[in-house]
Amino acid sequence: MNFRKKIKKIKSYFILSTESRLIMILLLCLVSLLFTVGCSNKNKPPADDNNNAENMKEIIWRGHATIQLNSQEKNIVMYIDPYNLDNQNNDLDNNNLNNKNNNLDKADIILITHAHYDHCSLADAIKIAKPSTIILATSDCMNNLEKLDVEKKVIVEPNKKYDINGIIVETIPAYNINTKFHPKENNWVGYVINVNNRRYYHAGDTDNIPEMALLKEITLANIDVAFLPVGGTYTMNAEEAVKAAGAFNPKKAIPIHYGSIVGTKEDAELFKEKCDCDVEILEEN
Ligand SMILES: [Zn+2]
Repeated sequence: MNFRKKIKKIKSYFILSTESRLIMILLLCLVSLLFTVGCSNKNKPPADDNNNAENMKEIIWRGHATIQLNSQEKNIVMYIDPYNLDNQNNDLDNNNLNNKNNNLDKADIILITHAHYDHCSLADAIKIAKPSTIILATSDCMNNLEKLDVEKKVIVEPNKKYDINGIIVETIPAYNINTKFHPKENNWVGYVINVNNRRYYHAGDTDNIPEMALLKEITLANIDVAFLPVGGTYTMNAEEAVKAAGAFNPKKAIPIHYGSIVGTKEDAELFKEKCDCDVEILEEN
């Protein structure tokens, strides 16, 4: 092999080598591109995790005793006693486990106060549940939610504290005094939810029970927003709710448990007129 041929061979070696390097670079680009796509997918929420609490109102009244409570700070959506969501589930077959085709905000946390159908509704829980949902409910209600497939189910009882991913939820007794719709021995509850640097109290189905006053120093201290039933019959009526609010002086009270099954807007208005505290009547959404 003469000198020129040798040079040619060396040149062709380098040319090949350059091509190889180009292929290597291309391969590396492809791998890193795939890796980046993989990583960014990891950061994306699952398809069903479609909440964006940032642009939502803090409190939404969904009718009856249903409150949707949103936290921008934690970017979470909570529901208390979800019932009759989207106004079409009254006759819904509770065995329909695929009723997720709706525009409702999916729940990170669901709180249920007791087992009555207008508070503990499997059909409605299904509408807002996602795989990561955590649900708190009394034991009799939890029996009705067996078919609900969620991350965690927590059975609650009165006078306890629960730490739900850093959100402290306290349970307050809820029962009737002169009627038997909600016996004390059922251990049903109301909730105090500590989020948004506020204390929200959802009273559940209750009369004006002595615990509300007694708990002033213990659990119902510094309530910022109280959701109080005013519809009467099964719960406090407006006048009783005025007394209940007077027992622990919430900064704001929002009347609930009227407008559909029991009670009317007049009850809410009477409550607003008579209560010493700031009362806001929410529009149903
Ligand atoms: Zn009830």
